[in-house]
Amino acid sequence: MNIKAPKGTKDILPNEMANWHFIEKTAEETFEKANFKEIRTPIFEDTNLFERGVGDTTDIVNKEMYSFEKSERSLTLRPENTAGVVRAYLEHNLYRESPPSKFWYFGPMFRYERPQAGRQRQFHQIGVEMFGIQDASADAEVIMLAVEFLKRLGLNDLTVEINSLGCSVCRKEYKEQLKKAISPFLNQLCEDCQSRFEKNPLRILDCKNENCNKLFEEYNLKSKISGIKLCDECSSHYEKLKLYLNALNIKYVENTFLVRGLDYYTKTVFEIKSNNLGSQNAVCGGGRYDGLVETLGGVHTPAVGWAMGVERLNALIPLIETKKIDYFVVSDNQLEAVKLTEKLRNKGFSAEFDYTSRKFAKQLEKAAKIAYKAIILGEDEINNGYLTVKDLQTSEQTKISFDKLIN
Ligand code: ATP
Ligand code: MG
Repeated sequence: MNIKAPKGTKDILPNEMANWHFIEKTAEETFEKANFKEIRTPIFEDTNLFERGVGDTTDIVNKEMYSFEKSERSLTLRPENTAGVVRAYLEHNLYRESPPSKFWYFGPMFRYERPQAGRQRQFHQIGVEMFGIQDASADAEVIMLAVEFLKRLGLNDLTVEINSLGCSVCRKEYKEQLKKAISPFLNQLCEDCQSRFEKNPLRILDCKNENCNKLFEEYNLKSKISGIKLCDECSSHYEKLKLYLNALNIKYVENTFLVRGLDYYTKTVFEIKSNNLGSQNAVCGGGRYDGLVETLGGVHTPAVGWAMGVERLNALIPLIETKKIDYFVVSDNQLEAVKLTEKLRNKGFSAEFDYTSRKFAKQLEKAAKIAYKAIILGEDEINNGYLTVKDLQTSEQTKISFDKLIN
């Protein structure tokens, strides 16, 4: 039998954990500072939640969900977490506190996609969601938070792209314009785009198919469409967002062709792209979703948020060395060694001893690999009640009592 991890999944091995902990800790510090509270929702939810929440014209719902039946109920491994957070927000009446309600999360997501660099079937996202504020200051707040988080991770070579998709009124005319520009070569586009044409033409702009992208250029698609003409309200919201971003000194690029893969976005959308990731270059995607809470059964509630791909972030962060333990006890008296180890741990140090009582030279070899210091506990040390501590970097040795050591 030769069982491997399922295609598109990855083991996160001990030597990679320092990076993951660094990312998680930085997330917690950054978000809690801005009074975002962590929320953990189930990894699977009712399939309905995603069908209604993410939208049944999206790739995610149409092709990428891991769904299964249990007791005649259809359940789905979450492909994203906004719908789950909204569900919890409604289920526990979290909207009762005066707005805004601000949440952040970290966890695995599941999408049945073609695995490739930067694209897995089980991957992790960190995200924030903010409910209850219509003003563009909320959009600016979450974008600022994303930028701050990335900065704290040491990531600088990134571009923030923003756009406004307006409301359904603004989009209506744009959709027609887009359809008109696309129809001359519609039959050459991929199957997905053909079905998007009627159901959600905007998302044709987000197609990842190479041939489609070639056709867009060949037919000068982008010069034939002007971008969404925003109504007064959407337009002033967008202008206000830019005002805030400018005031916060956040650099951004306006990309009138930026659309997002999910159905729920209104007004602001944004992406943060790395200049060092190749074709899977988006590390963060988000936007405003004023209609989602209502769609999922709540009262109309403005909301804005984003999600980042943790694997893609990690690919940009150099490998952080795994921390060594404080002490390795070298001894041929295992009883004394285990007692000392336990005492060290009780005093707050990380410590281990050699379980096999092999030759000291061998034990020291092992110690040098995994610990900063070795404590040699030989016959003389035991009989005379002291310890020999060897600094494994400098090889310096000192004789010291246990009490002195722990101080
Ligand atoms: P992409 O355009 O790369 O498919 P997306 O628009 O589907 O991304 P979102 O649903 O907005 O992505 O998710 C936010 C972030 O999650 C992405 O920017 C990316 O960093 C990460 N992400 C999405 N899908 C995957 C995946 N299959 N594997 C790894 N990371 C992913
Ligand atoms: Mg995708």
